[in-house]
Amino acid sequence: MSAPLHHARPAAGPGRALPDTQQGMRRRNLARVMHTVSAEGPLSRAAVASRIGLTRAAVSTLVDELIRSGLLEELGPERPRRVGRPGSALAVSGHGPAGIGAEVGVDHLAVCAMDLRGEVRARAVRQTANRDRAPEPVIAELRELIDQVVTEADGAGLWPAGLAVAVPGLVARDARTVVRAPNLGWQDTDLAALLPARWPLTVGNEANFGALAELWLGKEAPRDFLHVSAEIGIGAAVVVDGRLLYGNRGFAGELGHVPVHPDGPACPCGGRGCLEQYAGEEAVLRAAGLEPGEDRVGLLAARAEQGDRAVRDALRDAGTALGIALTGAVNLLDPQSVVLGGALAGLAPWLLPSLRSELARRTAGPACPVTVSSLGPEGPLLGAAHSVVRGVLDDPAAVSELA
Ligand SMILES: [Zn+2]
Repeated sequence: MSAPLHHARPAAGPGRALPDTQQGMRRRNLARVMHTVSAEGPLSRAAVASRIGLTRAAVSTLVDELIRSGLLEELGPERPRRVGRPGSALAVSGHGPAGIGAEVGVDHLAVCAMDLRGEVRARAVRQTANRDRAPEPVIAELRELIDQVVTEADGAGLWPAGLAVAVPGLVARDARTVVRAPNLGWQDTDLAALLPARWPLTVGNEANFGALAELWLGKEAPRDFLHVSAEIGIGAAVVVDGRLLYGNRGFAGELGHVPVHPDGPACPCGGRGCLEQYAGEEAVLRAAGLEPGEDRVGLLAARAEQGDRAVRDALRDAGTALGIALTGAVNLLDPQSVVLGGALAGLAPWLLPSLRSELARRTAGPACPVTVSSLGPEGPLLGAAHSVVRGVLDDPAAVSELA
């Protein structure tokens, strides 16, 4: 294919609808086999056939195609069954296509390669001060890390099936344009023009990728939840029935700019008293009388652990502000739970008590549970890489064309 892939077709994202033709049917069945083996494997052909309700012959044809494309592999004979010859157990391949995830943070860059089994096989992280730095040098540095990870993944027999980049800002529905990333100082930036055109590309909001990681990789994630994450800004993602809610322009989830006190301090967004002015990392540091620097969360957690009164009070107040801002979202959407992810997860012990009591006090009926993500600050990076993996599971035929 000569045209850059992300111009030629939509990125390999989850949930792409396949046409309702015989070819579409075959592709859907390939996806069902991949999803079944991914969720429950290792499985024999017969077990796959019974799970998806197709004949064993039909499943064998699909499986052979997936093995030829390098997406499934045989692990050798299963233990003998009572009837018939022993089947060979099928597993999702630990070689072949991989999801490349990348994250642009305010003070770090990270890239990883994840195989189809969901394991991170290569990773590169660099601390860099990206605030108010132009997109070109930041993305040039990110490309170095991408090259490094792709080379390392290649040594492990993996090739990129796509690249997904998490950014702390608003991303247009074209999944390539950063409309506004206030903490980076970026505006209307077409990241696709700066990134390699070799692979399908998805640019997305970091809170959205964090929520997807929670949904796909978290322990017993609910189908309806709000995922709140913070770095300097505060982002949220809304997951409804297992899918992200994007909103009209793709900007849904801007919890950081929900007003907590309508007459509060001015916010760069143009509003006043936004949540970010009370619960963003820098706001909490200011309230605690500390200087913003590197490892802000580590500093706050260490001081709170030592019993520093000012830090504990600042975190308590941040929890209260989060509770007020979340009240509106919880009353409006009635989620199963609120999940604190990203950097906020590390401060949960000091945020949760006031957050929970504020939410309980202000919401109707039983209080919405607030839980802490087990994925921690890597959630957005893992979610980005896994979104590419999901794209492969959802349409394996598209990926074998890329190979
Ligand atoms: Zn604001």
